[in-house]
Amino acid sequence: MTDFEFSASQDFAIAMDERDPLRNYRERFLFPKAADGGDCVYLCGHSLGLQPATTALYIEQELKDWAQLGVEGHFRATNPWMPYHRLLTEQTAALVGAKPIEVVVMNSLTVNLHLMMVSFYRPTASKHKIVVERGAFPSDQYAVKSQIRFHGFDPASSLIELAPLPGEGCLRDEQISSLIEGSGDEIALIMLGGVNYATGQAFDMEGIALAGRARGCVVGFDLAHAAGNLQLRLHDWGPDFAVWCSYKYLNGGPGCVAGCFVHERHARSLEIPRFAGWWGHDEHSRFEVGQNFRPISGAEGWQLSNPSIISLAALRASMNIFQEAGIERLRAKSVTLTSYLEFLLNQKMPSSFSIITPQERGRRGAQLSIRIPTNGRVLCERLANGGIVGDWREPDTFRVAPVPLYNSYDDVFRFAQRFVSAIG
Ligand SMILES: *Cc1c(COP(=O)(O)O)cnc(C)c1O
Repeated sequence: MTDFEFSASQDFAIAMDERDPLRNYRERFLFPKAADGGDCVYLCGHSLGLQPATTALYIEQELKDWAQLGVEGHFRATNPWMPYHRLLTEQTAALVGAKPIEVVVMNSLTVNLHLMMVSFYRPTASKHKIVVERGAFPSDQYAVKSQIRFHGFDPASSLIELAPLPGEGCLRDEQISSLIEGSGDEIALIMLGGVNYATGQAFDMEGIALAGRARGCVVGFDLAHAAGNLQLRLHDWGPDFAVWCSYKYLNGGPGCVAGCFVHERHARSLEIPRFAGWWGHDEHSRFEVGQNFRPISGAEGWQLSNPSIISLAALRASMNIFQEAGIERLRAKSVTLTSYLEFLLNQKMPSSFSIITPQERGRRGAQLSIRIPTNGRVLCERLANGGIVGDWREPDTFRVAPVPLYNSYDDVFRFAQRFVSAIG
């Protein structure tokens, strides 16, 4: 659907919802209430996804088995805990376009990022640099800088931060490709977001992985804002690794167990150094004492500890919904839903705000980042008090994401109406 076919009326939004094949998924999520008890417009799935109505059932099952079986639950629970994480493997692989051997759910995002860098950031005297986005998410910055120092290098000379050209809000694809082309000899690791958390820009992951690998650079992606948002094809695109959290678009709940991808070409390598733990060890001899570490083939071989079953249970509730809805259909709706939001904002676009997210649909996910140069924070607090939930980032950015699983065209309409009237 193109902008020409959109209409800035609530009737149109409601008609769009009636035609939406995914409209019923909304009822499977629990929406928080506004302060006055009314409905809220929740456009904050990029920060914390909503709770599926079935999450409590999945968790209760594990609580019940624990109560009735104690330690025996590891093998005799309805879903035995020993291999429990594998219940998520197929769905996770399908979601990110990977083979089952390439994915695992474990730890949390930043932990996984460090584990991946321990294995794949192997700087040498001449090839030691890491490429990140300028203004990358704080945790990613701390992680890459501490890894650089850990190897005896200095972020001042080993970190390359890609910044938009003066006067531009987002990076150009050719800035990334020319950096890789020009400095590939010195770059050990290209570590970019799939979708930049601040601007909502989606990167050309396929092009980056191809260019990086051609220059002998390791390529890793932080998919915190891409998993469950974009249609990914990690195996075909060929990055060495990727990590993501499960509480944003994936609705696994606060602090939920995270995801990790290791490309199949590394699946059986015994040369790659890694920080090891018993859960990554060959499961047949996991409990034996005095063994040398023998990793499970594939991403599972990077596991450290036995995971939180309660958290995995919560993630299963959501991943089962994703599987049913299908990321392809979700992405198709997302493209139209976000374009509709953009269309409505552009109707009224006064000089008091601007959208910094790229206009091209292929260069963004669900999120639009709205720059409000003056009094933005006060405005967003006022909207929040009225039940409009987005996310304010200092100094000047309001981030909103209509999520195709549970947001409606009418949500988008009501948001745009309130936002535009509040900004005056
Ligand atoms: C949300 C987010 C994180 C959060 O890291 P945790 O380890 O899950 O706390 C890290 N990086 C990016 C890019 C994010 O968007």
